[in-house]
Amino acid sequence: MQTNGTILIIEDENNISDFIATSLRAQKFKAVCTKTAREGMELAASLCPDVILLDLGLPDMDGMEVIRSVRVWSMLPIIVISARSREKEKVEALDLGADDYITKPFGVSEMMARIRTAMRHGAILAGMGAPSEVFVTGGLQIDFGKRSVRAGGTEVHLTQVEYKIVALLARNAGQVMTYDAIISHVWGPYMDDNNRILRVNMANIRRKLEKNPAEPHYIHTEVGVGYRMEAEEE
Ligand code: CA
Repeated sequence: MQTNGTILIIEDENNISDFIATSLRAQKFKAVCTKTAREGMELAASLCPDVILLDLGLPDMDGMEVIRSVRVWSMLPIIVISARSREKEKVEALDLGADDYITKPFGVSEMMARIRTAMRHGAILAGMGAPSEVFVTGGLQIDFGKRSVRAGGTEVHLTQVEYKIVALLARNAGQVMTYDAIISHVWGPYMDDNNRILRVNMANIRRKLEKNPAEPHYIHTEVGVGYRMEAEEE
């Protein structure tokens, strides 16, 4: 049978694991489930799935160990399934190399959207596709070649730093970027671990891009974690 891809689910809660597997199979994905980190690492290596969905609280080991061990040999996309209000954990998982997270409880459409984004990103990393040179979401348009940004049909003038932040988020659209990841991309690894300058820049970016900066449509805040650019339109 032709499948849309193989998804490895590492989750010890039966009801969550069953819900995910059933939803994926209904969308013609192959879903493989395991309850332990140890078996998850083995399956990751033997199956080479398209995406791993990973719970962090596993009976035999911390899920963080799975991220660490997979990242030694592979960039295959990992989406962490996380409990609400554990922001520190999400940041740690993303900094260790997880691609994204979904917060329990989540719906099927949100999960499918995250999986599609992760698979697209995985394909780009594997050299199977290139990010388009023009990024479009809603009324926002970024031409990477010309370094130009338009919002609602008008050219927007961004500073160098503002453009770097917007372009980085657009290159990773649909996925959250942590504050630290953005800061080290834009200012380099020696920048003080101080989010204030990023917040100031983001306020200016939103003033320029968004109709109502208090209710942003393009760049969303993931409280305590980072920022997420709205995914590109299909
Ligand atoms: Ca668990």
